[in-house]
Amino acid sequence: MALCKAHGPYNTSAALTPESNATDDDGPTFKKYQSSPQEKDPKALEADRPIGYGAFGVVWAVTDPRTGKRIALKKMPNVFQNIVSSKRVYRELRMLCFFKHENVLSALDILQPDPVDHVDELYVVTPLMQSDLHKIIVSPQPLSSDHVKVFLYQILRGMKYLHSAGILHRDIKPGNLLVNSNCLLKICDFGLARCEEPDRSKEMTQEVVTQYYRSPELLAGSTYHSYVVDIWSVGCIFAELLGRKILFQAQSPIQQLNQVIKLLGTPHPEDIRASGASEGAFRYIVSQPYHPPAMQTLHHLSSRANHEAVHLLCRMLVFNPYKRISVADALTHPYLEEGQLRYHTCMCSCCVSTNSGRQYASELEPCTVLPYDMSYEENLYTVHQVKDAVYNFISDMHRKSGVIPLCLNTASPVYRQFQSSTVAPQPELTDSPHPW
Ligand SMILES: [Zn+2]
Repeated sequence: MALCKAHGPYNTSAALTPESNATDDDGPTFKKYQSSPQEKDPKALEADRPIGYGAFGVVWAVTDPRTGKRIALKKMPNVFQNIVSSKRVYRELRMLCFFKHENVLSALDILQPDPVDHVDELYVVTPLMQSDLHKIIVSPQPLSSDHVKVFLYQILRGMKYLHSAGILHRDIKPGNLLVNSNCLLKICDFGLARCEEPDRSKEMTQEVVTQYYRSPELLAGSTYHSYVVDIWSVGCIFAELLGRKILFQAQSPIQQLNQVIKLLGTPHPEDIRASGASEGAFRYIVSQPYHPPAMQTLHHLSSRANHEAVHLLCRMLVFNPYKRISVADALTHPYLEEGQLRYHTCMCSCCVSTNSGRQYASELEPCTVLPYDMSYEENLYTVHQVKDAVYNFISDMHRKSGVIPLCLNTASPVYRQFQSSTVAPQPELTDSPHPW
């Protein structure tokens, strides 16, 4: 896994994961779609092999015929089966087109879908990322302290941008953190993301955050989600990077909460109340035998878990969400200084090297200029309305961009394999909350 020295050359030769045995010329190519005379001729994509399977799509590596660059093509099948999945996909498309940040995945293009009455699947083009943090953590590849620091720095840098846009990701987990062979990291999968709800009396749905990375307030039935639900998930991932083992790996939400309390210690009743725990959860927690805090055991995660690492971890893994560290404060923690330096010395595209040395950007962890507006979702009640909105959104985007459109080529030798590739079942535990 290539990682440049903080002041040395940027090594791009090593690959993070070996390429599959598929060759670059065996991919499905892409047919021309029916364009109107005034439109530019679409270019055919050269795809070769599947590189990943997520909850809502299959990702293939392809070559962009317009630039010759390797990119990723995500096939999202059966997207309009019900209103929930339709809105989730539309939200993801809108966000992917909105984001402009190195550590957040964005869309390079979306293929023009079939006419609105027939559209059932969508194809999104993004930068190609060969791996993700889950695959890296479970692989035998070495993970040094420098790797952990530069990964954690980028997760927080991307998250600061999302939070500045008013967006809670709500499903941060290692599999949603894409990584390329140069250790550049991008946050992805925005299907569960929401805008921050300033009114605490308004409830958010609970189908959030894969259980292992779910914050104690969500486990305890709180219906108010603040930005720091994402910080809890980052804390769990930080510990997983240090120990190469899932920190809280329980069979049910209630066992998950028990494991959290065993490490953090029994929370003070005021902290339980402040977290927004339901009455049932409050009674359950205070009725359990008292646990003293065991945070010092975090030093045993690995030799990489030094004093500064554990100090930052202890600021992230806090029961009371109001006492948990914010993303902006976490970025100023001394543990991340080296990660920040390494990233901006040889990985970022915001700073430039000149004859007189490196010129650093004035803002190393930028925020959005404008907040993300989710009000477009308010008047979408039926699948047909969402379908119309998606179709118009993509058509508008192409009209405004003026670039040569891309399309599938059904004559390709592996087109059939590409078309039949389906979504893998979710390996994680159910997202159902405990009925307190
Ligand atoms: Zn930079």
